[in-house]
Amino acid sequence: MNFSDIQKLVDLAEADLRLFDIDKQLRDLDASFKTLEEKEQKAAEIVFAAAKEKENAALKRKNAEISLAQAEESLKKRKESSQNIKNAQAAQKLESEMAALSDEISNLETEILSLMEAEKEAEDRKKNAEKEAAEARKSARDASVKIKEKEDSLSALKKQEEEKRESLAKLCDVDFLSKYEAVKKKKFPALVSCSFREGKLFCGGCGMSLTASQSEEIKKGNSLLNCMNCFRLIYFKK
Ligand SMILES: [Zn+2]
Repeated sequence: MNFSDIQKLVDLAEADLRLFDIDKQLRDLDASFKTLEEKEQKAAEIVFAAAKEKENAALKRKNAEISLAQAEESLKKRKESSQNIKNAQAAQKLESEMAALSDEISNLETEILSLMEAEKEAEDRKKNAEKEAAEARKSARDASVKIKEKEDSLSALKKQEEEKRESLAKLCDVDFLSKYEAVKKKKFPALVSCSFREGKLFCGGCGMSLTASQSEEIKKGNSLLNCMNCFRLIYFKK
């Protein structure tokens, strides 16, 4: 082995770093698209809930209006029957029934007013939410066009980098390559240079110091070692 074999593997590892970065950017784009979708979804849910509230208030109001009509009818009938009242006891009974009906009517009228108010409030909320939903939809549409463009250019770049990587892999020593691929499954980046500090060498991945014999071996510049701590492949950069 000589250093040019290591250099080829270094080139390959750099291509992997670029691919890793592209994949990360693609994931970020995907996440920002999902956030937009969620915003739109949330706005639509608010519209739906407000519409439902309005519907409920309207239904309650209609029922209250029916009860009101019935109570008014009953009161009217009692007023008519008060003309041919027989005795004081019957008059008292009728009077208390009429008072109860008047109370009921007044309560129903209050209820109807407050239900009308609730209906109006729900309608306002619905309108606001519809506006927000439309804005969210529009910004999601605008952003998704940009996201799609960025995604397309990243995908094209990814394809190029993959092709580059493929030709770099063909140049690599088979043993080096298989070692590299094995480590890459567990650690990324899989290949790191060692750093030099206070007369000692350290793994550029985890920072663990190399043993004296490892240092001696790696300094020859033509070998790859596994870090004893993180198992990454380390090489010595002259
Ligand atoms: Zn290490």
